[in-house]
Amino acid sequence: MGSVAVAAPVALGGAPIDEGSARGGKVNFPAIHAGTERPDAPPPNQAPPTRRVGFAIMGLGRLALQNILPAFAQCKHARPVALVSGDKDKLRIVAEQYGIPASSCYDYASFDQIKDNPAVDAVYVVLPNALHHDAVLRAARAGKHVLCEKPMATSPEEARSMISACAKAGKKLMIAYRCQYEVYNHELAKRARAGEFGAIQFIDAINTQNQGDPGQWRQKKALAGGGSLPDVGLYCLNTARALLGEEPEEVQASIFSPQDDPRFAEVEATVTFMLRFPSGIIANCATSYSAHEHRSMRVLGSQGHAEIDNAFAYEGQKLRVTRRDGMAEASTELTLGQKNQFSQEIDHMAQCVRSGATPRTPGEEGLQDQIIMAAIYESARSGKPVKLAPMSRPDAFRGPMQPEETS
Ligand code: NAD
Repeated sequence: MGSVAVAAPVALGGAPIDEGSARGGKVNFPAIHAGTERPDAPPPNQAPPTRRVGFAIMGLGRLALQNILPAFAQCKHARPVALVSGDKDKLRIVAEQYGIPASSCYDYASFDQIKDNPAVDAVYVVLPNALHHDAVLRAARAGKHVLCEKPMATSPEEARSMISACAKAGKKLMIAYRCQYEVYNHELAKRARAGEFGAIQFIDAINTQNQGDPGQWRQKKALAGGGSLPDVGLYCLNTARALLGEEPEEVQASIFSPQDDPRFAEVEATVTFMLRFPSGIIANCATSYSAHEHRSMRVLGSQGHAEIDNAFAYEGQKLRVTRRDGMAEASTELTLGQKNQFSQEIDHMAQCVRSGATPRTPGEEGLQDQIIMAAIYESARSGKPVKLAPMSRPDAFRGPMQPEETS
């Protein structure tokens, strides 16, 4: 039999080749690819556990277990340190999974004792919408910062009282608008604001899903506050506002719910709403609990347009940009480095807790959406446009993005 030549193995323990270096507290790798390739992102510079902001997760439902807790694995500045649930068995199982001691597990009756837990810097409220108000007030009273899921509340009045409770306690309040931390939405907003598509004329945003079980809390007005509008339509509203930096001065809306469908006995099925901005830009938005899932956004300017497919989804975003190229019309699909939008959002809150900065999406950002959603319902009821208070400056409520988020 003939012999096969095998390359000699490189001896372990010899001089390290190409393994990167850790200078200035950061790990760096030499480039593998030519300068014409997209550069690699640097490896994450993760803070050690003792320097991370500790989060208590309040409410162990789908979003908490399927998205939020797993996202901490990709966080650089945050870690889960406590859990809150009314279900003892779920608490024990999830606590074991994430290495959280029994002493940092609370039910809704014992939650206020969290004030004595120094590991907890912030509470992430992931409960049904109508329970956000009380949970945020209790967290603020316990002296904790708060990250609250969207929709912030079920009315502007609740939202105002949440803002003042956190302000009184001297604690940060951020609303979990994950799309504002998602890379494709962020890139589109950056390009639109830089004038890449000329003057923006029109935005078109759709967020729909077909609901199942009529008994779930999302179909109950007392727990959800409303139907498709506060749950998924809110993404169209908030993302259009965030992209433009302007606030709408007028809304006009229409609602349809089938009479004989038990899913819509208490909450609405379909809402279309038009937002008119002071610059003349119009955003046309549609949301539904009875149409197959579709989540897209389109921005049309005087010199080009751009679309994001799956704009409001957890993943699968695609950004297409279209402009004139000589005698041709050129459409380019952009592929950006993937980042987990939940990790980005949680890390943003952690950095604000550490630095004292106002979050990009503070309580006031959530209040503004509550005010606009109340106007949308009012317009649909009356059949007339509803005027909104003018805002004197762009990004009226938003804090800055963190430096590492803008690169
Ligand atoms: P879910 O029904 O899966 O979980 C809700 C949790 O709250 C459950 O663990 C439930 O036991 C608990 N709970 C406590 N008291 C309750 C009560 N009185 N009635 C019903 N449940 C009670 O819901 P979810 O999908 O995890 O949604 C939670 C929050 O997160 C909502 O505000 C929702 O709008 C928001 N959310 C946000 C996103 C996002 O992408 N950011 C996605 C889904 C949900």
